[in-house]
Amino acid sequence: MKQYIMALDQGTTSSRTIIYDKLGNIISVAQKEFTQIFPKEGWVEHDPMEIWATQMGTAQEALLNAGLTYKNIAAIGITNQRETTVVWDKETGEPVYNAIVWQCRRTADYAARLKPHEDMIRSKTGLLADPYFSGTKLAWILDNVPGTRERARKGELLFGTIECWLIWRMTGGRIHVSDYSNACRTMLFDINTLKWDEELCGLLDIPMCMLPEPVECSAHYGDTIQELFGGPIPITGSAGDQQAALFGEACFSDGDVKSTYGTGNFLLLNTGEKPVASKNGLLTTIAWGLNGKVNYALEGSVFVCGAAVQWLRDQMKFFRDAAESESIAASVDDTAGVYVVPAFAGLGAPYWDPDARGAMFGITRGTTREHIVRATLQSLAYQNEDLLSAMEADTGRQISSLKVDGGAALNDLLMQFQADLSDVEIVRYESIESTSLGAAYLAGLAVGYYDGLADIVASKKIAKTFRPSLGEKERKEKLAGWHRAVKAAIAYHE
Ligand code: ADP
Repeated sequence: MKQYIMALDQGTTSSRTIIYDKLGNIISVAQKEFTQIFPKEGWVEHDPMEIWATQMGTAQEALLNAGLTYKNIAAIGITNQRETTVVWDKETGEPVYNAIVWQCRRTADYAARLKPHEDMIRSKTGLLADPYFSGTKLAWILDNVPGTRERARKGELLFGTIECWLIWRMTGGRIHVSDYSNACRTMLFDINTLKWDEELCGLLDIPMCMLPEPVECSAHYGDTIQELFGGPIPITGSAGDQQAALFGEACFSDGDVKSTYGTGNFLLLNTGEKPVASKNGLLTTIAWGLNGKVNYALEGSVFVCGAAVQWLRDQMKFFRDAAESESIAASVDDTAGVYVVPAFAGLGAPYWDPDARGAMFGITRGTTREHIVRATLQSLAYQNEDLLSAMEADTGRQISSLKVDGGAALNDLLMQFQADLSDVEIVRYESIESTSLGAAYLAGLAVGYYDGLADIVASKKIAKTFRPSLGEKERKEKLAGWHRAVKAAIAYHE
């Protein structure tokens, strides 16, 4: 009987299930969007039961569409939106409140109160004191949903991020685990000792008995209950979305880097078995735990990446389809000196300026739509280059190769500009579905579906390689122009 791996990709806006064969070919896929709940300005919630229902719905649909049964699935791997926080009743499985989503800023004052402890937080968790991470979201639920802290203390309530919630339900409430790559995003987990931290939990008054058991990213956590698929399927892989993408891009070794050009931009550098502290606004995170070893990563994020292309499409009405940006930009030789700084939602790493706003510089009477489109595409590469050079500064090493995925990575003009600007070779694999592939690889490794990492590397097909071809002087000039533009954009609101 043919065997496949099922990847559950629980994202911020939709739940997807993808069934892969051994070569990484997609056998079946199903996707369902779910409700985004915005109770107040800056607040974002999801209904955990809707997440569960849509995720299982797509899993069953993906099997059915391909005429498969549970017997065809060697293992399930999970990848998920990170940091999103769920608390539920251990007996009934009922959530006590909606899931508080990673984007939600309601705990900004909690984070502000933690600022004096930031050095300790940074050294233990690799993170900053920020409402982005789960810890303050969990504290908010315990502070605001009557009776929950007391019930949590008595061991009646459980906490989990999304992968933990799904595994708990899929195993009929038997298994309460969180993989290292997700646990390390809670701000409650010590990435050096691989344990929940008493001091951090104490600061937020979080009863430690409600926390899941931390586990590796590729291991047999448990089997699905009979009712879901008609028979048991082993659940053997789990990783947060960005770490799963790093794994899916086969960035297995110290020094490997991937960049995801989605709505935002996430860059992760595998730093091997040592956590590297950042002096340049990056986060230190666990990439994965595998075969008794832990790989760490440096992570940098930019809020606006493909979203800038959406802005050109939807607000500027320059084109109807994001892909058209490439031919429009290619119709001019250069940007004629125009720089776009797409700081629509402030600036992320390495500037961390939440109040900055977008700006355009160097406009003349001759500036056209084509120049602006080209300059906007280039701005995605400039932002990425800032993250790459922050990583080089933090690690003292030169990055010479970059693996890419995400929607805007399909733009050849942008990829070539990135290669030129960053003086790196860019590799784009045929499948840019690296997030779900990463989850499938982790699950498959645990059950011997893949013989090892070399087996996975051998299965990957390169679609295109972009090689740098710009002189050092020109590269430096372009970058200097970008940095002047960023500086001016920051100065504008000061
Ligand atoms: P997400 O997972 O964050 O929703 P995707 O990886 O699906 O994002 O990528 C979608 C983003 O990529 C959109 O913001 C879109 O504007 C941008 N995009 C898609 N195709 C192209 C293209 N050919 N050139 C530039 N940007 C693109």
